[in-house]
Amino acid sequence: ATPTAIMVGTGRGADLGILIKGVEVLERTRTITTVVFDKTGTLTTGRMSLTDVQAAATTEEELLRRVGAVEADSEHPIGQAITTAARSRVGTLPAAGDFEALAGHGVRADVDGATVWVGRRKLLAEAGLILAEDLDDRARALESAGKTAVFAGWEGEVRGVLAVADTVKDDAAAIVDRLHDMGLTVAMITGDNARTAQAVADSVGIDRVMAEVLPSDKQSEVQRLQAQGEVVAMVGDGVNDAPALVQADLGIAIGTGTDVAIESSDLTLMRGDLAGVATAIQLSRRTYRTIL
Ligand code: ADP
Ligand code: MG
Repeated sequence: ATPTAIMVGTGRGADLGILIKGVEVLERTRTITTVVFDKTGTLTTGRMSLTDVQAAATTEEELLRRVGAVEADSEHPIGQAITTAARSRVGTLPAAGDFEALAGHGVRADVDGATVWVGRRKLLAEAGLILAEDLDDRARALESAGKTAVFAGWEGEVRGVLAVADTVKDDAAAIVDRLHDMGLTVAMITGDNARTAQAVADSVGIDRVMAEVLPSDKQSEVQRLQAQGEVVAMVGDGVNDAPALVQADLGIAIGTGTDVAIESSDLTLMRGDLAGVATAIQLSRRTYRTIL
């Protein structure tokens, strides 16, 4: 392409709210074969709310008091959703001590003299808390509905399951369709469990799901796709996504996302809408096809 065509391409991108960091980025963009979307905050709005509470071997009120207290110190959207709901349902929450966040797994703190664990199945199992079968069945049903089931327990037992959910963005299914029409493979990556991830992926027509991926492993998952011969665009919003954005052949940040994600990306979608992903690839294909 001529310098003029590239300038036009880059300028057209800017008009569409697509900030392209450099000429070689525009050139690389047309070679993408797979687009990987982060789930939470990218395909979904990231605004989570508490949808279900199931207590076992305790009351719903006690469960919300303790879990709300632990999550009050969490910066995770799941924690914030739970604490907000707990405060509105049970009022003032007790104090929590020795808070610890275990990235990609959950949180832990001491409340009313007991260590309370909140997080994924595996975390609570490793903490030695027994999970009753009917409570697990309930959690599986919630997950199959696309919700994230969070387990909570103390003193030897899992004492409840809380479900949180956010909504898939309005344009998610349309963008997946459009990328398919362009001949691309569409994948989703998330730390969330496999059942929840599959339900969300199915609802928007995504081909390939990488679930239960720890924050530290998102990058190596992208690398694995590259080793299989895929040229990968990674779309993300979070601090967790930054290494994967750097690893990808094309890192795409959502403009409404974190500064770290934006700094780690090659391309930023300023308007925060997903359509920019397809538009950027089309723009690159056109720029380098018209004048060769
Ligand atoms: P994502 O990639 O969807 O942003 P994370 O890697 O942040 O997910 O978290 C993975 C999983 O760990 C969550 O789905 C949840 O089950 C658990 N988890 C993480 N943080 C918390 C928390 N503060 N409270 C409860 N569960 C948590
Ligand atoms: Mg995210």
